[in-house]
Amino acid sequence: MNEYLKTVIEQTECRNEKEPEFLQAVHEVLTTIEPVVEQNKDLYKSVALLERMTEPERVILFRVPWTNDKGEVVVNRGYRIQFSSLIGPYKGGLRFHPSVNLSIMKFLGFEQIFKNALTGLPIGGAKGGSDFDPKGKSDNEIMRFCQSFMTELYRHIGQDVDVPAGDIGVGGREIGYLFGQYKRIRNAYEGGVLTGKDIVYGGSLARKEATGYGLMFFMREMLGAHNTCIMGKTITISGSGNVAIYACEKAQAMGGKVVAMSDSNGCIYDENGIDLDCVKEIKEVKRGRIKEYLECHPNAKYIEKSGVENPVWTIKTDIALPCATQNELILEDAKNLVSNGVIAVGEGANMPCSEEATKYLQENGVLVAPAKASNAGGVATSAIEMSQNSMRYYYTFEEVEAKLDCIMTNIFKACKEASDEYGLNNNYVAGANIAAFKKLAGAMVAQGIV
Ligand code: NDP
Repeated sequence: MNEYLKTVIEQTECRNEKEPEFLQAVHEVLTTIEPVVEQNKDLYKSVALLERMTEPERVILFRVPWTNDKGEVVVNRGYRIQFSSLIGPYKGGLRFHPSVNLSIMKFLGFEQIFKNALTGLPIGGAKGGSDFDPKGKSDNEIMRFCQSFMTELYRHIGQDVDVPAGDIGVGGREIGYLFGQYKRIRNAYEGGVLTGKDIVYGGSLARKEATGYGLMFFMREMLGAHNTCIMGKTITISGSGNVAIYACEKAQAMGGKVVAMSDSNGCIYDENGIDLDCVKEIKEVKRGRIKEYLECHPNAKYIEKSGVENPVWTIKTDIALPCATQNELILEDAKNLVSNGVIAVGEGANMPCSEEATKYLQENGVLVAPAKASNAGGVATSAIEMSQNSMRYYYTFEEVEAKLDCIMTNIFKACKEASDEYGLNNNYVAGANIAAFKKLAGAMVAQGIV
């Protein structure tokens, strides 16, 4: 390996040794951009380019005290990682989940820089959230938590500074409470400070659908480049949240047959094809568990999660779409998918495949659509929401969807061109990293040592 790269990887491992997810994300990027670094090693080394790219510009850590319905005071931890403002205001979602820690926040912030660069829009990279668990909380508890979270976060964000959005555990309801509190503190309507807002107070049509739809546009392009298509393919999807639901909706509209979805407890298998209205009712309205699908569809099967394997990846499929969380598809799952004849894996979640799983899939001829590229539709549409807020003018659903389609098509093109240019044999994971890195490196050199 290139000496400069090797030194930076070692230094990063030393500095962040207790942050496995962050190191995994950095390792994946640094090992795939080697041909570009090799061509520019003296320049990059002289400006400490990789050292700067792997160190967040700012890490904000704060206390979030709130009162539950029993009147007890609970203290959670809040984070905002302002990783890079190279090409625009910090931009990235907020995650509320008990697993949230510094490592997970930093890996998500780091990935976001590359993803946002791929969209071609002027947005930097960030991520934030809290170890707060929204499951089982009342609406009032969610509101009090969001208000307390924003009471600290507001001083660090702004429509030209840092623009958060949703992620796991943060959907339209949470964005509403966060926006309300921001507006109250600032005494001003700054529509572009948060994205994922409801339509009635400044949201964009098609934002809710954007990540899942965008994933399917990317899959359409990737499969098309290999002379195949979505039509008639069997598809399994992990998760049943925002990304999973709208990936399923578009996959069905494109003629695919989705047979499985999941949540953190287990997965449902419906050989007749998933009834998405039923899933939406359970998840978006009742906020229930995926198991409840069997109440409407008693012939479907429910497989409880146990052991190392993820049950959703044991089901025979042509296309697998991990849309739940990081490292949910590991080597054992990749082996199950390959032995069942999978042809493509599309990452809807961030870093859902472990590095070993990705390698195994690619070595066995499976096409892998990397998250930084394939799930960029959400943040791209957030940027379109910001521009609508600035213009004070709103596009129709069809207009936003057409822009999203065009962005995803261009992202696939960029990944393919980079893969072809460097002779990477349809390795779109490396292609995405290289295409994004080249843009970012150019901006970093141009802006001097900051
Ligand atoms: P949601 O909270 O809407 O849904 C998350 C889904 O994943 C739920 O079904 C949840 O199940 C499941 N899940 C979460 N954690 C785990 C876990 N540890 N093990 C198994 N299942 C789990 O989140 P989103 O759909 O918004 O996000 C899903 C993924 O997509 C995340 O990786 C996120 O970073 C990524 N992403 C989201 C974007 C967006 O626009 N929302 C944009 C780009 C990426 P349960 O309800 O049981 O917890």
